[in-house]
Amino acid sequence: MKKKFVFATNNAHKLDEVRQMLGKNIEIKGLKDIGCTEDIEENGQTLEENALIKARYVYKHYHCDCFADDTGLEVEALDGAPGVHSARYAGGQGHDSEANICKLLRELEGKDNRKAQFRTVFALIVNGKEHLFKGIVKGEIIEEKRGTEGFGYDPVFVPEGHTLTFAEMGNEQKNAISHRARAAEKLVRFFERK
Ligand code: IMP
Repeated sequence: MKKKFVFATNNAHKLDEVRQMLGKNIEIKGLKDIGCTEDIEENGQTLEENALIKARYVYKHYHCDCFADDTGLEVEALDGAPGVHSARYAGGQGHDSEANICKLLRELEGKDNRKAQFRTVFALIVNGKEHLFKGIVKGEIIEEKRGTEGFGYDPVFVPEGHTLTFAEMGNEQKNAISHRARAAEKLVRFFERK
């Protein structure tokens, strides 16, 4: 029988991406599909806490197996910032990628160490039991934006072993190596063992 999960997101792009990563044998519904219009407050101090907050909310209110994710860009020379604050790094309501990138490049001005990593955490709740899976992609922050694909910090992030930024790669190439894909792979392996 097909396994069914709710993915605690309202982001249609992410929902599609994760559906593709998890394959046809797993049915994934988004928050909208279960009638949840709540903007679940992500006030945790870590990616793990935020992913758990979202998954626990859905489990508590909708009593179904579910998972949630949280992602951050962690820059070595900035002691791991923007990290859990990646969406709102430049302040404001968040998701202003232009402003976030500007701030990041300003903070890194004159610094030789430009190493960074994207880290995704998935929090899964099955039959009330919690599981965490993480995916990391290492790389570096370049000095100027390149490329128009993707979102967020993609135009300034070049993954290790590559010359293109995530924003210069097509979705397919990015999804083959991305932090989210690596975390999703672990989810898939977990489901396969069940
Ligand atoms: P979220 O947890 O997936 O909403 O990610 C939080 C923030 O991290 C986003 O608002 C983006 O700024 C950034 N981010 C997450 N995933 C990516 C990615 O794949 N590329 C670039 N930026 C990302």
